[in-house]
Amino acid sequence: MRQGIVLVLSAPSGTGKSTLSEMLLKEFPNLGYSVSCTTRQARAGEINGVHYHFLCLDDFENKRKNGEFAEWAQVHGNFYGTPLLPLKKMLAAGRDVLFDIDVQGAVQIKTSLPEATFAFIIPPSMEELGRRLHKRGLDNEETIFQRLANAKKEIAEAYWYDALIVNDDLARAYNDLRSFYIASTLMPSHNKSLVQTLLGEK
Ligand code: 5GP
Repeated sequence: MRQGIVLVLSAPSGTGKSTLSEMLLKEFPNLGYSVSCTTRQARAGEINGVHYHFLCLDDFENKRKNGEFAEWAQVHGNFYGTPLLPLKKMLAAGRDVLFDIDVQGAVQIKTSLPEATFAFIIPPSMEELGRRLHKRGLDNEETIFQRLANAKKEIAEAYWYDALIVNDDLARAYNDLRSFYIASTLMPSHNKSLVQTLLGEK
């Protein structure tokens, strides 16, 4: 059986990461989504346990202290963490796992799971990113200002990722992402049993 891969996706808010993630999850049923824990308030339409596990600060802190997160970070003033147990279960079942996490979390995964693969989605320009954040109407002016400032800091980290995907055209960006995912599943490190079987080692 092929070993499940961890695909980490990072991007500044408003880059289209959620849309691209949903498209990938829909096309590839073997790819599961890692539902993060967060202390931020649920937005309209977000479902507890589907988009996030919405926790109070105390519950998040307890989980963090108990070592229940594969990584965690503070982003835009809220805490976010990737639960370790569901991740282990999905990988053990041979499923691939998609992480939608920020750069601070990705750095931690790079250290703890060196075989994970990392893709960073960037907007065509900072002006376009600002336009998209206004258009989606989720945040007030102050938050948009904060998100744009954070976006610059995040983009400065993009150089160490394995793939850089420009989302100027959704169809093209999706094609790049799915190609990267497929290529990642073909890596020898995730297909050791194929070689071992051929060599009679298994
Ligand atoms: P949002 O609040 O807009 O859903 O997400 C804000 C940022 O937090 C996004 O960049 C998203 O990728 C990141 N994020 C979501 N879940 C996690 C997580 O479990 N860990 C880390 N480090 N970042 C996360």
